[in-house]
Amino acid sequence: MTHHNLCVLGSTGSIGENTLDVVRRHPKRFSIVSLSAHSRVDKMLEQCIEFTPKTVVMGSNKAADSLKEKLRERGINDIAVLYGPQALCDIAAANDADTVMAAIVGSSGLMPTMSAVNAGKRVLLANKEALVTSGQLFIDAVKASGAKLLPIDSEHNAIFQCLPELEQKRPGECALEDNGISKILLTGSGGPFRTMAAELLHTVSPDQACAHPNWDMGRKISVDSATMMNKGLEFIEAKWLFNVEPKQIQVVLHPQSTIHSMVQYKDGSVLAQMGNPDMRTPIAHALAYPERIDAGVEPLDFFNTKPFEFEAVDFERYPNLKLAIDACSMGQGACTALNAANEIAVEAFLAERIRFTDIFKINESSVNYFVSEQVSSIDDVIALDAKARAFASEQLISLEAEK
Ligand code: NAD
Ligand code: MG
Repeated sequence: MTHHNLCVLGSTGSIGENTLDVVRRHPKRFSIVSLSAHSRVDKMLEQCIEFTPKTVVMGSNKAADSLKEKLRERGINDIAVLYGPQALCDIAAANDADTVMAAIVGSSGLMPTMSAVNAGKRVLLANKEALVTSGQLFIDAVKASGAKLLPIDSEHNAIFQCLPELEQKRPGECALEDNGISKILLTGSGGPFRTMAAELLHTVSPDQACAHPNWDMGRKISVDSATMMNKGLEFIEAKWLFNVEPKQIQVVLHPQSTIHSMVQYKDGSVLAQMGNPDMRTPIAHALAYPERIDAGVEPLDFFNTKPFEFEAVDFERYPNLKLAIDACSMGQGACTALNAANEIAVEAFLAERIRFTDIFKINESSVNYFVSEQVSSIDDVIALDAKARAFASEQLISLEAEK
């Protein structure tokens, strides 16, 4: 049994909490050395009491002071409480952790994830936005440092599990065709609005968009699942993780989310990974890889499982997915700008400032505006991310007036 010392970035989120639930089941296998949260002080206090990390990073000085005070009241004086982006990068690279769970949401996760990559850690990648915004630069950094990349996104974890072992050892450098693989079949449920009349989509509320039929997730990724931008980001993520061309990836709608993705071999075999939709399965897989551990997830009961259905994607219903697939072929400028614009648009939708269908308008205009931007360093990524956010924020104003 291999022991791992963990840093969990974004420990108070949906992935973070599921990670700690798996860790809780295996106290001899995993130790928590550092945790991070943006603003949820009380949740972090609970995690500190249970998991006794050495270091914690909060999003602001205020949140850090409030946590320190609460720890002191409980007589806990041996946890260092820091705050801010540099401290996040520091815990991700620190010598005391060999494994980093990258579970911050959005491009705020880019620098800490890169920091873990540059330090050559085992990086459990949930923060897909980091890879989408930086693509080749991210993969180059993995190659340069010798970091071990393990996908947490359920689809990519499923694909990973269906690959030959050799390919599992070299994400970003896979040679799938040489191993007889002809296609990656990326499954998606279609989200909560798959069968809603298309003319009503502009009326849906944030709570309706966040009520995913199969998965319980953070609000940003839930909205992305409803627009299927999430599948678009995953399409780009798959291109980089498995070193494939867009034409080798096919999106398949599978409303039950029981098959988490598939790999098609040239002899006609299709390997699928399936299970109940519970993120603890991919998390446990990556945490213990290459060993297998109990994740607390019930096995599939084939006699009481809903029949599997499959459909082709209707891109008119999901224009954001089409836009992301197109951006994947256009280049890094388009992908970085799309991700940034989408974060602004989703935040505005969640704040009820714009309509659900406006998310696409903002995303499309941002891709068109920034498509020719060159991105050749992480500084370029950060600069373009900021420019695209500013551009998207301007677009919001006129859409807000129309709402
Ligand atoms: P969430 O909103 O539930 O949690 C986000 C975490 O990030 C929280 O701990 C929060 O404190 C922290 N955070 C938020 N903004 C931050 C900032 N500016 N700086 C530092 N920390 C910040 O999100 P989630 O659903 O857990 O998703 C996390 C990541 O995992 C996302 O990139 C998402 O795409 C990916 N992912 C999630 C799921 C899922 O089932 N939830 C599945 C696949 C991939
Ligand atoms: Mg996913």
